[in-house]
Amino acid sequence: MSLKGSDMRSFFAACFKWWWRSTLVVLCILGLWLFVFVSRTWPTAYPLKAERNSTLMYDRNGSLLREVHLEGGTSKRWIPLKDIPTWVQDAILTAEDRRFYYHFGADPLAIMRSAYYNCKVGRVLMGGSTISEQLIRLLMPDRPRTLKNKFIELLYSLRLSFNFSKAQILEAYLNRVYFGGQAYGLEAAAQLYFGCPARALSPAQGAFLSVLVRSPQELAPYKDINPALKLQRDLLLSMEKRGVLDKVDLKRALAEKITLAPLSERFAAPHFCDFIIAQNEQWPAQDAVRIDTTLDLKMQNYAENVLNYHLERLASHNVKNGSLVVLDIKSGDILAMVGSKNYFSLPDGQNNGCLTLRQPGSTLKPFTYALALQHGFTAASILPDLSYLDSMLKDAFVPENYDRRFHGPVRLRQALACSYNVPAVYALQKVGINSLLELLHNLGFTELNKSAQHYGLGLTLGSGEVNLLHLVNAYRALAREGNCQVVRFCQSYTDSRGEKHFWSAEEDTEQKVIPPEICTLIGDILADSIARSEAFGYHSALNLPFHCSVKTGTSKDYRDNWCIGYDDNYVVGVWTGNFDASAMRNVSGITGAAPIFRDVMKYVHQYRSRPSKISNTGKLNEAEPGLEKRWICAESGAAPGPYCYNKIQEYFLPNTFSYEVCQVHKLYCFSKTNRQPINPLSCSPSEYFTKVVPVYPPLYRAWMREHKMLIPPQWAIYRKVSSEERTKYAQSSDLNMKNGSELPKDKIIFPENGAVFRIDPFLKRQHQSVNLRATASAPNKKLTWKVDGQVFQVSSEPHVVSWPLREGVHRITLQTEDSKFPVDSITITVYP
Ligand SMILES: [Zn+2]
Repeated sequence: MSLKGSDMRSFFAACFKWWWRSTLVVLCILGLWLFVFVSRTWPTAYPLKAERNSTLMYDRNGSLLREVHLEGGTSKRWIPLKDIPTWVQDAILTAEDRRFYYHFGADPLAIMRSAYYNCKVGRVLMGGSTISEQLIRLLMPDRPRTLKNKFIELLYSLRLSFNFSKAQILEAYLNRVYFGGQAYGLEAAAQLYFGCPARALSPAQGAFLSVLVRSPQELAPYKDINPALKLQRDLLLSMEKRGVLDKVDLKRALAEKITLAPLSERFAAPHFCDFIIAQNEQWPAQDAVRIDTTLDLKMQNYAENVLNYHLERLASHNVKNGSLVVLDIKSGDILAMVGSKNYFSLPDGQNNGCLTLRQPGSTLKPFTYALALQHGFTAASILPDLSYLDSMLKDAFVPENYDRRFHGPVRLRQALACSYNVPAVYALQKVGINSLLELLHNLGFTELNKSAQHYGLGLTLGSGEVNLLHLVNAYRALAREGNCQVVRFCQSYTDSRGEKHFWSAEEDTEQKVIPPEICTLIGDILADSIARSEAFGYHSALNLPFHCSVKTGTSKDYRDNWCIGYDDNYVVGVWTGNFDASAMRNVSGITGAAPIFRDVMKYVHQYRSRPSKISNTGKLNEAEPGLEKRWICAESGAAPGPYCYNKIQEYFLPNTFSYEVCQVHKLYCFSKTNRQPINPLSCSPSEYFTKVVPVYPPLYRAWMREHKMLIPPQWAIYRKVSSEERTKYAQSSDLNMKNGSELPKDKIIFPENGAVFRIDPFLKRQHQSVNLRATASAPNKKLTWKVDGQVFQVSSEPHVVSWPLREGVHRITLQTEDSKFPVDSITITVYP
């Protein structure tokens, strides 16, 4: 038994010896492998300190606008550990890794605790990761959280601890860890949440940031600060228990009120920065660590405040949003760009209204007139503002003038300054839609990519959609003598090697698109507060105390308000409206966008004002190169005749002034007995008196009648008559033969025979009618209108009848009471 027993013992002893030996060998091999693995140099693919920081965007005066984070969340603004207060280090260690200074990269106690916890719940929930392990994850992101990866992380963190000091590891961790709100690293987090550098953080603030690390997305303190505050208090208490905070400091820290810095402060000029980031793929600054932009933060802040102030004022008119751009005329620098009322408001605050396409209303009219001036028109040319010309548009919609009236004959200067619609359409018809489209393309409106037929004559009234930035830059071309050049948003950038690259607009090709004299003239008209006073009043928001060329616009159904203008140094453009394209109520360019424009323009004007070369009445100085100053008749635009009572001065391009005298103002003879026009041939000078009467060309006769203006016959024009002439006249019997050519006829004057109309599918049918017009041979005559043989209406002076548009080809005839047959007829076509 004993032998047996000793045999068994020796057998077990041999087994144990063998087992022990083989285990030792395995452990030795494993240990050797672990030692070799762990002690090997840290792979350079994962440098602790990032080679490149995030991209910082500054305004033109060195104020930080935004820190742009790189893909993959690597290092941001790197600060050395000595600049991080010890209480912040203690707070993060208390929260994340209490035995950081005592373990070798892995914390067996924490591993056992988390293993126990994970077994209990049956899933891998609790990490128990040390700071070294977390750093490994930050260095090698995008790895799934599996047990295998966890083991690899463990090995790597051992290797990390073998190769680097605790201070180096903690520094790398604090500079890389994510605190939410796009803040990677402690410095970025301190700047984001408290608007201060990390070295200025208090223990309470340090503890607050430390608790965010665990779950930055869920805590999101800008949404609700309370969950994070609760964790911060718990952490402060733990810190006191660990002895890293004494009782006095704890009391102070608990009493400290945590106030988050407003998001907007750490996210200045947000739309502008987004705009630059969006450009990033198209320009060579992808490698930039610092971008010195063109923005002027002071100007930007002022513009934001002004816009917000006025949008509050306009809220009752259903105006919810607005955008604004300020450009430097010379350099093209974007000095301010406000994309919406509030970038942080949901759902559409991040829309950049400076870049969205919208109907520009009347703001393209200056370019139509710039073309007209190149095509032989002058600022004194008379253009028709007549209601019955709006059918020229055929398939477009002519909005009402601002004052809801038609003004008959108007000078080009008035037409542009007062923004009358029909004259602009008339001018565009004369110069051609293709010419305007080509000019707009040259001015940078790449968005107008449809055919001329698509836009039609409505192009000058804003039927094409453009963006505010392009619009403002097109006005900048007017301000710089017709030279168009792209805008600039970056002054210079510094690449990761520390090299600075300057971004110069001169490199970009500059294109001369409008002759300089024409730009001067258009600019003068847009600054003419007297010329625009007829429509907008002299004391409108457009009348600034210095020279400023400005134009407003309102799109169809009051969806968009615009106001764009320039002084000697800056172009300012303002849009107001709604991102959902809902209509505003009772608000036009002059009441909506113009007051915003005015406030911003007055502010920027003080920035760098030179003595103005043009006074605020819009009149150029005598010696304006390329233009001639001439006296004209204010009503006919022609050289003044002896009877023109309203004479003004106008500017003309060289050799465009016609010396032909005014044909509108003539002296007529009226009988002293019945005050009716009288032929000076038929009576002695003692029987009549003379009076100046303006009589406009035939195109305007219907308008004159509508306005009850006197139209004396041509034979009543005053002239010196000898007694022989008078005798000869008296001997002639056929008065009608002499005066016949002047006799008015019964005639349809609108529409013309063969005119074509189109029904607007968006307008209500009852609002779509055409005003038929006729002249009658005698003042009290009644005229019968027939459409397709059916009597439609009987009219009396001024013979205007409204006929609702109906699809098809229609014959319209006119009949008098004493005639059996039509005296006049036309055929028109109406397309659906
Ligand atoms: Zn005249």
